[in-house]
Amino acid sequence: MKKLIIANLKMNTTPSEFKNYAMTIATKAKGSKNSIIVCPPYTHLGVAQEFLSSSKVAYGAQNMSAEESGSFTGEVSAKMVKDLGAEYVIVGHSDVRNKFKETDKTINKKIKTALANGLKVILCVGESLQTRESKQTQNFIRKQIDDDLKGIYENELESVIIAYEPVWAISTNKSSANKGITNKDISKMVEVIRKEIEIQFSTKASKKITVVYGGSVGLNNYKKILSNESIDGVLIGATSLDVDAFSVIARENY
Ligand code: PEP
Repeated sequence: MKKLIIANLKMNTTPSEFKNYAMTIATKAKGSKNSIIVCPPYTHLGVAQEFLSSSKVAYGAQNMSAEESGSFTGEVSAKMVKDLGAEYVIVGHSDVRNKFKETDKTINKKIKTALANGLKVILCVGESLQTRESKQTQNFIRKQIDDDLKGIYENELESVIIAYEPVWAISTNKSSANKGITNKDISKMVEVIRKEIEIQFSTKASKKITVVYGGSVGLNNYKKILSNESIDGVLIGATSLDVDAFSVIARENY
């Protein structure tokens, strides 16, 4: 089964270091049945354009401004990202939601701006450990989906991937007491996400929407996680920094 394998390099590597990364993944991805997307920092998108555009690896930005253009010093617009050949943009990553206090209202605006500029969106949703422990996960995720996708047309969902990334399961947030997520947990939440899409849009949309899982996917567990038929793929942070490890996951037949 063909899966979607996404790398989020976060704020790691320099553009010069990324050149080697891009050349390696472009070569190793040849012949892979999966769809592969690499999301490096903004400063690397020109390198991605040079080394990935004629490969089977697509690329995207890790964030963007909700605004089209203007007096927003330090911000990067959807048009700029698109002009460098990026096909995707990650919106609503928990790093941005939590460390930079990004709201669902801003995320909703970013999604609309991204879609209006021809970018496909990788929308991250996910609950904190506190929300999980207070048994509010399902309501929390439903609300994130409702707020983030408010006013989006059903046909635009073809350009939206939902990444279910429980904040507590992401490698940098994991405590040693946390044994990680089970396939049963993942399947349950994918069902909740699809059900909410059905309520807000239609049964057809709920069946068609692409849903991936993210949170501590690595060489030790990728086979198990990707054998879960309820998910269309994975979003990988820490392990994607090692291009050889990421390539192993990207090349596997599922
Ligand atoms: C992420 O932060 O998007 C992520 C999935 O990270 P990791 O794979 O390191 O848990």
